[in-house]
Amino acid sequence: MLDPLPGLGRLIRALDGRRSERTIRADAARDGLGPGVVEVVLAALRSARLVTDLDPADLLAMGAGPAAVARAAVELPSAAVVPRSAVWRNRASAAVVVDGATRVGVPLAAVLAASGVGRVVVRDEGSVRAADAVVGGLTADDEGRPRSSAAADAVRRVSPSTDQRPLPPGVPPDLTVLARPWAASDPVAVRSVDGGAVLVATVRGETGVVGPLVVPGATSCLRCADLHRRDADGRWPGLAAQLVTAEPPASGSTLTCLLTALLAAGQVLAYLDDAGAPLTLDASVELRPPDLIPRVRRWPPHPSCGCGAARPEQSPAEDADPLPPGGESSPQGRMGR
Ligand SMILES: [Zn+2]
Repeated sequence: MLDPLPGLGRLIRALDGRRSERTIRADAARDGLGPGVVEVVLAALRSARLVTDLDPADLLAMGAGPAAVARAAVELPSAAVVPRSAVWRNRASAAVVVDGATRVGVPLAAVLAASGVGRVVVRDEGSVRAADAVVGGLTADDEGRPRSSAAADAVRRVSPSTDQRPLPPGVPPDLTVLARPWAASDPVAVRSVDGGAVLVATVRGETGVVGPLVVPGATSCLRCADLHRRDADGRWPGLAAQLVTAEPPASGSTLTCLLTALLAAGQVLAYLDDAGAPLTLDASVELRPPDLIPRVRRWPPHPSCGCGAARPEQSPAEDADPLPPGGESSPQGRMGR
């Protein structure tokens, strides 16, 4: 193709994320392109979203070495569309703990690491079982290995420079993801959270559940949701106690687990990026097969909960259900049809 304007091809090739706009304009002028032409070209590329303006702080936070820069270069433009400055630097300084090296938790941790979250720690005990293997998470070869180190390898495969060291005692992460099947119903699991925001992301039975995202003191909490369930059915406390007593087998298809992990990752990044109110504040999203179309359930603050989120005019939970999200009455959907 003919170059319609001398120097135009060089101008476009120079937009590689490594040069400042001032340098690009100076080089274009040297190539004989008038400032008006450069202005029109840059405006057209910006409006078509073919060019994204990057914050200098984000460029500095891309990590050392050509491989880290190459990985960040494919992720950063999507992050940079958030109307907030230095979003990549902000992700690089964030710490997220994933509680549960599950078929949701491990791919979720890997996606967060690949998306620039600087510190991602997967917590779990015990050994990997054959059914834990999932695309982007634990592998078939991991069977029998300690869950936490196999999960760390899954994160390292996509992002070798991510910090995976446990946080010092008493230092809360920016967010903890509860990825065990019944973690949100288990007071012990919730007590193990060291503070900061909490997001539920799991597959219960065959249903993916993302949310609520709990920002302490500002949104409804896991106890609020539990109280709504108690209001709807007095049998709920007994059922919840049974559900959390034993470690359930892995469940959920690969498709359900990965969609759940990706939806959860989007909520985590929306929270870290401060990109507007995430969908799962005071709510959870369920993904049920076969269509896996997201269904939102509201969990407003409960007036009897002491978390401080309830406001006097609060109405009862919409669509409150005595059964947990997923509606399964047996742990992990082992019932036949
Ligand atoms: Zn509450």
